[in-house]
Amino acid sequence: MDNKLMLMIPGPTPVPEAALLALAKHPIGHRSGEFSSMMGEVTENLKWLHQTTSDVLMLNVSGTGAVEAGIINFLSPGDRILVGSNGKFGERWVEVGQAFGLNVEAVTSEWGQPLDPAQFAAKLQADTNKEIKAVIITHSETSTGVINDLEAINRHVKEHGEALIIVDAVTSLGAYNVPVDAWGLDVVASGSQKGYMIPPGLGFVSVSPKAWEAYKTAKLPKYYLDLGKYRKATAKNTTPFTPPVNLMVALHTTLGMMKKEGLESIFTRHQRQKNATRAAMKALNLSLFAGDECASPAITAVATPGIETDKIRSLMKKQFDIALAGGQDHLSNKIFRIGHLGFVSDRDILSCIASLEVVLPQVGHDNFTPGTGIAAAAKVFGQ
Ligand SMILES: *Cc1c(COP(=O)(O)O)cnc(C)c1O
Repeated sequence: MDNKLMLMIPGPTPVPEAALLALAKHPIGHRSGEFSSMMGEVTENLKWLHQTTSDVLMLNVSGTGAVEAGIINFLSPGDRILVGSNGKFGERWVEVGQAFGLNVEAVTSEWGQPLDPAQFAAKLQADTNKEIKAVIITHSETSTGVINDLEAINRHVKEHGEALIIVDAVTSLGAYNVPVDAWGLDVVASGSQKGYMIPPGLGFVSVSPKAWEAYKTAKLPKYYLDLGKYRKATAKNTTPFTPPVNLMVALHTTLGMMKKEGLESIFTRHQRQKNATRAAMKALNLSLFAGDECASPAITAVATPGIETDKIRSLMKKQFDIALAGGQDHLSNKIFRIGHLGFVSDRDILSCIASLEVVLPQVGHDNFTPGTGIAAAAKVFGQ
């Protein structure tokens, strides 16, 4: 059957019909009054989502471009930075820092383990000359399904006083509490194809007053990603370059949906779906790649020793039209990942678990009683 694809990957995520219909409209001119008034509302709602009164800027980039912009606008060549690295995305920010000639020190943990706040504390406390200019943290490490303790790490950054905290919140924003002002997060980057419930193509960067101070003296080269240009334009409800107008109309729609649902309900929904998914995987005798204490609300990584996970994914796609994500790098074919981020309902989780119960015995994993996965999830949803 065609047209029944269910995306359960951590981006792109499913798009609600109201947003799809918005995308289908004729583009409007980005210098029109109609666009400006829409952009004003979008900007206000982005600040609401970020829990900030400072700037949230929109760029035509993927999530990586948003993080790159969040790095290069506030630093100078040779600046010392600490980068948390416990998965594919943490490794990427190490590479970006190196590509721009920063003095990068990776603070690592094994893939599947959370970053250790004490390691950051030790380095920050030892830095009495205040040479560390920024700490970069991937909040929800999508490659492993681990959520890092941003709040604890950020407390050590605040005690240091000089360093900026730069956050990849691509799969935490809109799924988990990221209170930008309350925590004093200087730069928070995200992308449209994750919690925002629209297709890929827009990146978002929030910038604190402290980060704007650093911007004044930052010397890394920039042009298209110069956030100062976006700040000036955003203040006048316009954009420095041609924006993806249709995506912004769709964003206007989904931000309205998010406001209606409310931040607390959104976070609770992601938490509930995470709990149901994890309970089901345990009941099916599968192992969870991340521990309960550090499990991402957006994505559950499942290890399947002795089974090639690509076989599971291809049967899930063929038999049920459900797309699951695989593992990256050394985890390729060793884990599969269930995305429960954005426009995902409890019903979608039940469908996914039931389908897995059909598929798993076909790849040789049959040491569970049919129905136990669903029962475990039903218990969570019934509470
Ligand atoms: C998806 C994602 C990104 C951005 O990836 P793009 O492909 O550039 O959009 C960055 N960080 C995390 C944690 C992600 O999940």
